[in-house]
Amino acid sequence: MVVGVHRPTKLVIDRQALRENIHTAVSRLAPGCELFMVVKANGYGHGAIQVAQAAKDAGATGFCVAILDEALELRAAGFNEPILVLGVGDPADAPLMAEKRISATVAAQDWLTEAHQYLALAHVTAPLQVHLGLDTGMGRIGFKTSSSLQTAVAYLNAHADLNFEGIFTHFSTADSSDDHYFKQQVATWKALTSKLTRLPRYVHVSNSATSLWHAECNDNMVRFGVAGYGLNPSGTEVAAPYTLHPAMRLVSELVHVKRVVAGESVGYGATYTAQQPEWVGTVPIGYADGYERRLQGFHVLIDGQPCEIIGRVCMDQLMVRLPREFARGTRVTLVGRDGDESISLQDVADYCGTIHYEIACGFTARLPRVYE
Ligand code: PLP
Repeated sequence: MVVGVHRPTKLVIDRQALRENIHTAVSRLAPGCELFMVVKANGYGHGAIQVAQAAKDAGATGFCVAILDEALELRAAGFNEPILVLGVGDPADAPLMAEKRISATVAAQDWLTEAHQYLALAHVTAPLQVHLGLDTGMGRIGFKTSSSLQTAVAYLNAHADLNFEGIFTHFSTADSSDDHYFKQQVATWKALTSKLTRLPRYVHVSNSATSLWHAECNDNMVRFGVAGYGLNPSGTEVAAPYTLHPAMRLVSELVHVKRVVAGESVGYGATYTAQQPEWVGTVPIGYADGYERRLQGFHVLIDGQPCEIIGRVCMDQLMVRLPREFARGTRVTLVGRDGDESISLQDVADYCGTIHYEIACGFTARLPRVYE
C-alpha cells in the first residue's frame, strides 16, 4: 500500500513518551528482571522499528513479536537482541529461526518433533531457541498438563539442536479488578512449573497489566506491550499506578470548507440533513485509513473545539460541522490534544464499542507515521 505523504493526514508518534513509559516500567523491575518490548503488529500501529529503538534506549533488552516476519524485520534493521515470536509458526521455519537466533514459542510436542526433523535436514550450526508456552487458562496455545510438559522438556534436553531457553504463560484477566481467575491461573502455572527440576534462562508471565498490578508475579522477564505505548491495559477499569503518556496522535487539516443551507444533505445515504444554514468542513481520512465508519456522530477537534462528524464516514474523507467558517488548511485533531480539549484512543474505542488496542493497530499503512 502506498503511504499518503501528499495529504495532511498523519499519525504523529512521540518517541519521548515511549521512552518515558518504558523507562518507568524498567525502573520498577526487581534486580535481574528484564523487559522485552512487545512490538508486534507494527508496534501496535506505532512503527515497530522506531518503537524498538525507543524501547532499547529506555532499557528494554529484548523484543516480542507475533509472527516470524516481524522478527525478521527487526533483524534486518540491525537489532541483535533476543526476539521471541509469541505465536505458533511453521515448523519448516525452524532452521531459519535458529540461524537468525529468533526464539520460537512451542505449544505442542508434535510441533517440536517436526521442527527437529527440519533442523536435522538443514544442518544449522546454531540451536533453535525454544520457549515452552503453557496454557494455564487463556485457552489459546500451550501445554496444559504436567506430563506433556515433562515430555517436551525431556525432548529438549535430549537434542543438542534445541535449546530450552524459556517458559511462559499468558494471563487473560490481569487487567481486571476481579483477580479470582487470575489467581487460578497463577496457581496452575505454579503447579506446572514447580515440578521442573531445571528452569530455563527466561521465565515470564507478565504482560503490561500483570507488571502494573501484579508485579510480584514478574519472574525474570516481562513482555511489556500496550502500557509502553502509554495506554492503560484495562481501559478505564483500573487506574495505572503511574502516569502513562500516550504516544500516538492523529492529525489532519480541512481540505474543503463550505456553507450548506437548511435541507441540504451530507454524505452517502444522505443520513444527515442540515436543519439550518451551517458551515461544513471536509477532512481527508476515512475507513480505508482505519478511521472507522462507525465514527459517524463522534467528533474531532478544530481550534480547540469538538466538531461533530456528520454524515457517513467515507472510505477516504469525512465531513464535520463547523461552529464558524474556517480556512482551508486549518488543523484537525482526530486523536490528541488541542487547547483544553483532547480525544484519546480510549475515547475513540469507547465510541466504537471496542478496545484501544484495536483502534491503534487498525490504522492502515496509508497513514504516514511521523516521529517527533
Ligand atoms: N504476551 C503475549 C503472549 C501477548 O499475546 C501479548 C499481547 O497480546 C503481550 C504479552 C503484551 O500484552 P500487553 O500489550 O497487554 O502488554
